[in-house]
Amino acid sequence: MRRWNGWSEVGMTPLVPEVALALLATRIGSGLPRPDAAFEDVVAAVPESRLAGETGLSTEAADRVRHARGQSLPDWIALRSGRIARVTDAVARPASDDDVRAVFAIAQRADAAIIPYGGGTSVVGGVTPAPDDPRPVMTLSTEALGGLLDLDDQSGLATFGAGTLGPDLEAALAPHGLTLGHFPQSWERSTVGGWVAARSAGQQSTGFGRIEDLFAGGRLVSPAGILDMLPFPASAAGPDLRQLVLGSEGRFGVVTRATLRSVPRPPREAFPAWILPDWPRALEAARAIGRAVLPLSMARLSTPAETESLLALSTRRGSVRALRAWLRIRGIGPEPALLIVAASGPEKQIQDVENMMTKGIDALVILATESAPLTPAKALPCARASSSGRTARWTRRRSASPARTHVAR
Ligand SMILES: Cc1cc2nc3c(=O)[nH]c(=O)nc-3n(C[C@H](O)[C@H](O)[C@H](O)COP(=O)(O)OP(=O)(O)OC[C@H]3O[C@@H](n4cnc5c(N)ncnc54)[C@H](O)[C@@H]3O)c2cc1C
Repeated sequence: MRRWNGWSEVGMTPLVPEVALALLATRIGSGLPRPDAAFEDVVAAVPESRLAGETGLSTEAADRVRHARGQSLPDWIALRSGRIARVTDAVARPASDDDVRAVFAIAQRADAAIIPYGGGTSVVGGVTPAPDDPRPVMTLSTEALGGLLDLDDQSGLATFGAGTLGPDLEAALAPHGLTLGHFPQSWERSTVGGWVAARSAGQQSTGFGRIEDLFAGGRLVSPAGILDMLPFPASAAGPDLRQLVLGSEGRFGVVTRATLRSVPRPPREAFPAWILPDWPRALEAARAIGRAVLPLSMARLSTPAETESLLALSTRRGSVRALRAWLRIRGIGPEPALLIVAASGPEKQIQDVENMMTKGIDALVILATESAPLTPAKALPCARASSSGRTARWTRRRSASPARTHVAR
């Protein structure tokens, strides 16, 4: 069962290595850990619901507390301290478009505000009742609107109920050899409707596309009526109403279903990583990767502070010690930056990318340590059409490589 005041499951105690705690202490001080507020105490203090007389809604205090906040740092502080400014007055769980409209009717009658709620992982206060709104608040959870509704496995167009969670979506596509490839870091707990409404980006969106690329169409049920967005491949006629819904954060109505563009599951994925000597040169390297238009599904560059935190949080302490020793021997300074890339695709393409990265990394190292530009040239066997239509290749400049030792493979 999901814990009420944070991310993990009840009973799970995340292991934070001593070295990470020490790092935190040097960065922000050791602090005074306070005991968490008890769920029962918070529930007991919840004021009576202003929608108590309405049928078909949950007005249980515990349910209302569980839907009071999202998952940002201020949300966690509010929940763990028990100082939640306002909880919702009721939770509705419609199971159909008609049910959603029935909820709207209740809200209209009661002059209540409605907050659509998917996985509740918002980090921008999207599911939090506004403290100064004088109206009662009703949270409309999409949890009963989940599941695969339709799949055209020729085009890959897959229609899901808005409340479908990331793992359930991938599990439904997997038997058909398909994937959406959309993996925001909140994937386990966030929903299709939330992705659309919050214009989500996944870790591998560089390759698979952001949600706006994957959202082919769907249905928005609003107090004014139903907006059906048909999954046309492309159209030059008029504005694209999907853009109105994407990122709307529930302002215009409830997305009840979304048709998404799934693709064949890549037979292989690779996630190689490099450590670059410092931030300016790491930035330059990342920029060079971007300009080389490699077929990557991810390029993630961590600042030295994030790199330090990632290494400190690793539970594989032996490997981290070995890496640090290796970096020292190679003369890497105190502020290295981690670069992780991902390639997803057919075996041949992955091999090509790995070859390009492996060979291109020499150029990257030179770039990283000598600021030499990584120019399109003709040395490497694997190539990809650049945006100008010409072929871009990576240059290897082994000859000018006194600093090649600065790379960790
Ligand atoms: C640890 C963590 C990691 C994260 N990583 C990423 C990331 O990598 N990329 C990223 O983009 N975001 C990330 N987020 C932010 C968040 O997870 C995304 O915005 C996600 O898309 C929200 O989905 P949800 O189902 O949880 O929506 P919710 O949090 O429930 O809702 C988000 C917003 O959408 C509205 N809404 C929800 N469902 C519907 C619907 N069916 N119809 C209309 N409106 C609706 C809500 O009212 C709210 O305004 C992260 C958050 C956390 C806590």
